[in-house]
Amino acid sequence: MYDLLVIGAGPAGISMAVEACHSGIDSGKIIILEKAEEHSFSIKKYYPDSKLVSANYKGFEAKCSGVMCIPDLTKHETISYLDKAILENNLTVHYSETVWKMHQNEDKSFIVYTEKGEYHTKIVAIAIGILGKPNKPDYKIPLKLKERALFDVTTVEIRNSRVLIVGGGDSASEYCQFLTQNGNEVYLSYRKKDFTRMNEINRESLLELEREKKVVILRESNVVALEEKDGMPYVKFQEERFGEQTYDYVVYALGGSTPENFLKMLGIEFDGEDPILKEHYETSVQGLFLTGDLTAGTKGGSIIWAFNSSNTAMRKICRDYLNCKIDIE
Ligand SMILES: Cc1cc2nc3c(=O)[nH]c(=O)nc-3n(C[C@H](O)[C@H](O)[C@H](O)COP(=O)(O)OP(=O)(O)OC[C@H]3O[C@@H](n4cnc5c(N)ncnc54)[C@H](O)[C@@H]3O)c2cc1C
Repeated sequence: MYDLLVIGAGPAGISMAVEACHSGIDSGKIIILEKAEEHSFSIKKYYPDSKLVSANYKGFEAKCSGVMCIPDLTKHETISYLDKAILENNLTVHYSETVWKMHQNEDKSFIVYTEKGEYHTKIVAIAIGILGKPNKPDYKIPLKLKERALFDVTTVEIRNSRVLIVGGGDSASEYCQFLTQNGNEVYLSYRKKDFTRMNEINRESLLELEREKKVVILRESNVVALEEKDGMPYVKFQEERFGEQTYDYVVYALGGSTPENFLKMLGIEFDGEDPILKEHYETSVQGLFLTGDLTAGTKGGSIIWAFNSSNTAMRKICRDYLNCKIDIE
């Protein structure tokens, strides 16, 4: 019987387990199950390699309430920090393992089933983020464009190409900053006129790239269809002034959304599109908590938000369930 089983080994899942260790729970009583072959998969997949990982991402205050904390770092430093947290706290992570069912016993403990076995645990924390399900446009993407219509900038190396990025948030700006470094001709399609969803640094960097003529911003543009023409993405805009254009790649930076089906499958109740969360991110299922991006609402969270939400959840877990003591008050 584990004390704590965590689903997902990103910043939220790792910090949840670290918080538990620092509250006096034996690391042998904690387990993390991760779907991917490695931890922090979203960061590895979605962050451009040269990215500055900002501590106050999306304007969230860079103030840490728990054990884990980061200043502004490179992508590599961020991953090393998380690597170290796993090693130094002696955390057990089972990789390539996906939860497909969960059962709550009469004594309120859980049995969690994966394709490789079953786990018995007192508490479950779900830390699977929102990036496993990137938002898609509402038109169809032809199957033949699988390698050219992308949702990140790490799966395919894009160089010396004509690229259209679709989106208007921080990721869109960061993708522009990354792709302009590799000899690409970069276009950004955004539905609005002003960039209100970006942090100051990303907005300024993007506008600077526009001034330097490294990025062409198609303001108030709406892509309405994507077709395949001679193996390339052929993009149709609603606005006549943008017309129809061929690109080598289209990269969508439209954010992610709550993995509703997965959470409902675990028995969590929803109010509209959002999971019902009680005090300290406990769900409608007693002893089942959410942490990280899943607790941050539609706009998503940040790494420090993930760390802090784990600390918040752990306070209640200690107080009401595991009789442990959070060491930072
Ligand atoms: C392009 C981009 C740039 C960003 N830049 C910054 C920045 O500069 N600073 C900052 O603070 N934040 C940044 N963020 C946001 C930050 O990455 C997230 O807020 C943070 O990663 C959330 O952590 P998480 O652990 O909740 O989710 P994730 O990081 O998404 O981790 C979830 C983990 O769960 C695993 N998983 C998913 N489904 C399952 C399942 N069913 N079973 C088991 N495991 C599963 C995933 O493989 C992953 O390893 C950025 C995000 C993006 C997309």
